[in-house]
Amino acid sequence: MSVPENRLRIAVQKNGRLAERSLDLMREAGLRVMKGANDLLYRIENHPIDVLRVRDDDITTFVADGVCDLGVIGLNVLEEHAARRNGPRPEVVMRLGFGRCALKIAAPAEATWQGPEALAGRRIATSYPGVLQSWLRERNIEAEVVELHGAVEVAPRLKVAHAICDLVSTGATLEANGLKAVETVLESEAVLVRAPGGPPEAHQHLADVLTDRLRGVVAAQGAKYIMLNAPRSSLDRITRLLPGAGAPTITPLAGANDAVAVHAVCQENVFWETLEGLKGAGASAILVLPIEKMMM
Ligand code: ATP
Ligand code: ZN
Repeated sequence: MSVPENRLRIAVQKNGRLAERSLDLMREAGLRVMKGANDLLYRIENHPIDVLRVRDDDITTFVADGVCDLGVIGLNVLEEHAARRNGPRPEVVMRLGFGRCALKIAAPAEATWQGPEALAGRRIATSYPGVLQSWLRERNIEAEVVELHGAVEVAPRLKVAHAICDLVSTGATLEANGLKAVETVLESEAVLVRAPGGPPEAHQHLADVLTDRLRGVVAAQGAKYIMLNAPRSSLDRITRLLPGAGAPTITPLAGANDAVAVHAVCQENVFWETLEGLKGAGASAILVLPIEKMMM
């Protein structure tokens, strides 16, 4: 990586659900993260990069304003920011495959759900008024949105609202509060964002190199390298059984007439059932290997 005059800045969550994974991602991309004199700023020892550690809600503002070149943020936070604020918004560079959750509408579990129209004239408590309002507008539903920050799930019991719109991953919190999810407003995960229009010229090259590395890190997550031997006549069946694989490499096996070696990168998990299926289709000597690094 070349050395620009000043340092590239990446904003990540300081504490919380995305904090640790965001730093791990940087490390996997080959950045040596050094804790700084203060908690706010970490330095990357081997590249001219600083990592700014802030509240997740502030990351969008920093990246939108170009104070930071890149950021790691939940799509939910980004969308809420965009719904509330006019002007340039951070651009999504790629999905990062962690921090998965969904913004859902939940209603009391005992009531039968009649569809989104049932929300008309009702009160809905949420920390995501912007995203919720646009969802309601798209469906021509007029409801009263009550903004709460914390303890949203107790709002129906306290009679503050009829329903809620909140982040859900397992649904255990909803259940514990006598609620059930009835509509999905947004599917979310952590995303890499960049300043509107991309980083300034001086940071462009480094940002591109880092983005390429991160693309490789994300692609390698869960990907497997699979090797097996097979009779040429079973190749069609075997290729169809390989989960999420592109065109496999086929090489003749030394000293065998009909047998070939098949090598492929599978973008999905390879389960025992898949191996059993491959064996049933005529494959033998099947190996599944983890992939450490990948460059697309
Ligand atoms: P901060 O102190 O930075 O403002 P926060 O309390 O707003 O943190 P966290 O609870 O740490 O945020 O969640 C950060 C992000 O993690 C969420 O915005 C969301 O994208 C993601 N996430 C994944 N699963 C869940 C979940 N079950 N509940 C809430 N957020 C989740
Ligand atoms: Zn927050």
